[in-house]
Amino acid sequence: MSGRTGEVYRIGWLPGTDLLHGTCHCGAEHTAQDPVEMWDWMLGHPEGHREREQRRRGNAP
Ligand SMILES: [Zn+2]
Repeated sequence: MSGRTGEVYRIGWLPGTDLLHGTCHCGAEHTAQDPVEMWDWMLGHPEGHREREQRRRGNAP
């Protein structure tokens, strides 16, 4: 076994869409149309990965 400790990234296509859905090892989730954008997000880990403070989309009061 290797010495890696739980750095797991998951990326998959959302069924029926052109969107990628990624989950970071920290538990943050992200969707993007562009794989490059997805990896930018993944590799930029601390930035934009707050569990609860993700971008709000179209849900402003
Ligand atoms: Zn993260």
